[in-house]
Amino acid sequence: MPVRIHDVGAPLQSTMLYRAGRTSTYPEEPVESGIRFHFLGGAGEVGNVGCVIEDQSGTKVLMDYGLAPTKPPKYPSEAPSIDHAIITHSHIDHIGMAPWLVGHHGTTLHGSKLTSRLSEIMWRDTYKVSRIEGYPLAWDKRDLDAALEAWQEHDMGEQFSIGSWNAKFHVAGHIPGAVMTEMDVNRKKVLWTGDMDTRSSPNVSGALPVKCDILCLEGTYGGKYHPDRSEEEERFVKRVLDVVSRGGVAIIPAFASGRGQDVIRILHDAAPHLDVHYDGMGTRVTQTWMDCPELIHEPKSLRKAWHWCRRVRSKSDRKKALDADVIVTTSGMLDGGPAIWYVNRLRHNPANAILLTGYQAEGSGGRMLLDERKLPIYGKKTPVDLEVTQFSLSNHAGHKELVEFARACSPEHVIIFHAEREPAMALATDLEPDIKVHIPKNGESIVIE
Ligand SMILES: [Zn+2]
Repeated sequence: MPVRIHDVGAPLQSTMLYRAGRTSTYPEEPVESGIRFHFLGGAGEVGNVGCVIEDQSGTKVLMDYGLAPTKPPKYPSEAPSIDHAIITHSHIDHIGMAPWLVGHHGTTLHGSKLTSRLSEIMWRDTYKVSRIEGYPLAWDKRDLDAALEAWQEHDMGEQFSIGSWNAKFHVAGHIPGAVMTEMDVNRKKVLWTGDMDTRSSPNVSGALPVKCDILCLEGTYGGKYHPDRSEEEERFVKRVLDVVSRGGVAIIPAFASGRGQDVIRILHDAAPHLDVHYDGMGTRVTQTWMDCPELIHEPKSLRKAWHWCRRVRSKSDRKKALDADVIVTTSGMLDGGPAIWYVNRLRHNPANAILLTGYQAEGSGGRMLLDERKLPIYGKKTPVDLEVTQFSLSNHAGHKELVEFARACSPEHVIIFHAEREPAMALATDLEPDIKVHIPKNGESIVIE
């Protein structure tokens, strides 16, 4: 059973396999003046990120190079030959195509210690899933091995150089190890947020504004307002306790990299008497997090919470988990993983419930469950007559937080990416006219003088 880790997916538009020099949208002309931003992916869409920033000095950098883990996956356009890439965090829609870069261009990958150390788990899983599901992948195992050697790790606040530019990482919130990148380009300060949240979550503290001239802002939740985080956590815990008190098991599908660990910490803090089991790839991810305590919010509490829950390690552990109060497991959108096994075994007792912790993408199992009360179980669309409740424990900033953050950075220009058209427009409406807002398209360049 393949385990899929992903953040947010985007619907499939095209599948592209690279042939050198054939599929890149990157312009051949050098930059004459100003700074050029060219999106290979991630403009007008969520995930699938890749953007080349270049100035007339000839220095250029690729910001992220991911893939959207849809079925089949969706890739950004082919990157030009490039010496440096900055990988903002370890989610697959930001890191998934990096082995191709290293294999074809010998690119150096810059990232936080945690992003670099999680990359092997993410890439091996992507490779495995592509094999099992028969999807083409533009890189192979040799590229993966080369990519593992291509990392340059940087601490938060440490100055490093990208060609003729100075660069520095800041905490992005979102997940542990996620960075925002500040760069001095052509006498201007550029800030690239990557996926971000200004609100603190159990495992990472929120992003703080950085003064800049050009702000490249993710806009996933433009136009959408999150409920108050602590009230939502309370509502979630209350629901779990209700399910347990009526004799049921609460099944909580959660991403391996972020949400699962958040859920464990919330439950450990609020209801330590519960019998909580964890099953999925998050075990290796959490171990890696605990090796980088400086990037975790209150790392001792994470360690405590993690040792408090029972980690499923074997088939017999999995059977024992059926009698638990709570099972936290992958995949977060019910697209496979142990979550399907548990739902299949527990779907006949109406006291049980499925508690979803966030957005369920179009085409995902979780979306089908919400819309049709059915789930694909081992290839068969199966009715699931259990309580299904959805919560919003997102690790992306909502509209209000994005607008406040952007204003506090006091930029002249904002470029909105990682957002569909409507959310981007909603942000533009609240930022203009005193800030010049750009909404890029994939395959097109924006030049800012
Ligand atoms: Zn992410």
